[in-house]
Amino acid sequence: MAILVTGGAGYIGSHMVLELLDAGEQVVVLDNLSTGFRWAVPPAATLVVGDVGDQDLVRALVRKHGIDAIIHFAGSIVVPDSVADPLGYYLNNTVKSRALIEIAVATGVKHFIFSSTAAVYGNPKQLPVSETAELSPMSPYGSSKLMTEIMLKDAGIAHPLSWVALRYFNVAGADPQGRSGQSTPRATHLIKVACEAARGKRNGMEVFGTDYPTPDGTCVRDYIHVTDLVRAHMCALAYLRKGGKSDIFNCGYSKGYSVLEVIEAVKRAAGSDFPVKLSDRRAGDPAAIVAASAKIRDTLGWVPVHDDLDGIVTQALAWEASLERLKAAS
Ligand code: UDP
Repeated sequence: MAILVTGGAGYIGSHMVLELLDAGEQVVVLDNLSTGFRWAVPPAATLVVGDVGDQDLVRALVRKHGIDAIIHFAGSIVVPDSVADPLGYYLNNTVKSRALIEIAVATGVKHFIFSSTAAVYGNPKQLPVSETAELSPMSPYGSSKLMTEIMLKDAGIAHPLSWVALRYFNVAGADPQGRSGQSTPRATHLIKVACEAARGKRNGMEVFGTDYPTPDGTCVRDYIHVTDLVRAHMCALAYLRKGGKSDIFNCGYSKGYSVLEVIEAVKRAAGSDFPVKLSDRRAGDPAAIVAASAKIRDTLGWVPVHDDLDGIVTQALAWEASLERLKAAS
C-alpha cells in the first residue's frame, strides 16, 4: 500500500512527503515540475514526473503501487493570477481534479484528501469563519477549489470514496529541521516576499491596500505553519482509515495578523529594515479572514505546535538563507 501525493515536489507537498516518510508510509509523488523541484522530493519517495490530468498515467500508478489514498496538492495557487487567467485556473484546479477523482473512483482508491482554501468563503460576514459559513469566493481561485469540494461531496455519495477537504488559511514557514521550505521563484505570497526583501533579494516590497475596514487598514490573515498544516493531513488520513465520515475542516490558528504586523515581524526576526511602499488594493483580496478551528481540533484531534508568527517568519528566513546556499553551490 502506498500514498499518492500530487504536487509533492512543491512547497506544501514536499513537507507532506517528509511527514509521511517519517511516519513510515510508502510515498509516490506525481508532479509535473511546473512549479515544484526534483530536489525537493526525498530519495525515499518515488517521483513520477507527469500530469494529474493524465488518466492513463494515474490509473497505471494506482495499480502498480497499490495506492490506497491520494493527497491532492497539485494546482495553481495565486489569487491575482486566477483573476487574470480564470480558465487556466479552472483547468488546473477543477478539470484536472475531476479527472483525478474519476480515476480514484474507477480504481477503488479508498481515501482522498484535498487541498482546499479559505478563499471559498470570500469576505466572511463573521470572524472567525466556521466551516458552515456562507460560501462566496471572490476569485476564480476560490471558485475553482470550491467546485472540487462539490465534486468530491457528490462522488463520495455515489461511490465508496471517503474524503476530507482541508481549507487552508495562509500557509507559511518552513520545515523546522531545514529540509524544505517555500522555494518558488517570483514569489507573490506575503511572508515569502517580505523574507526576500529582508535578505536583500528584492529592493523592498509593496503593501496592497491600506484602506480596508481593519484595525490598521491592511488585510488580516491567519498564518499557519506548514508543518502544522501537513500534520492536519496526517490526522485526516488516520481519521479516514478508521472509517471517519467525509468532511471539511478549516486549517488555521484562529489568530489574525495584518500585512503591516507581518512585515514588522519579518523585520524584527531578520534584524534588518527594507523599504515598504503603500500601494493600491490588489484584485480578489478579502479584507480579513481568520479560521474557526474548533472542528478540526475536536474531530481530528489536531494540536498545532508551531502557532507563533515570530517562529514562522524566523524559519522562513532561515530557509531563504538555505536557498541562497543551494544556489551558490549549483
Ligand atoms: N500582500 C502584500 N504585499 C505582497 C504580497 C501580499 O501586501 O507583496 C498582501 C495581500 O494583498 C493580502 C495578504 O498580503 O492582503 C496575503 O496575501 P498572500 O498573497 O500572501 O495570500 P492570499 O491571502 O492572497 O492567499
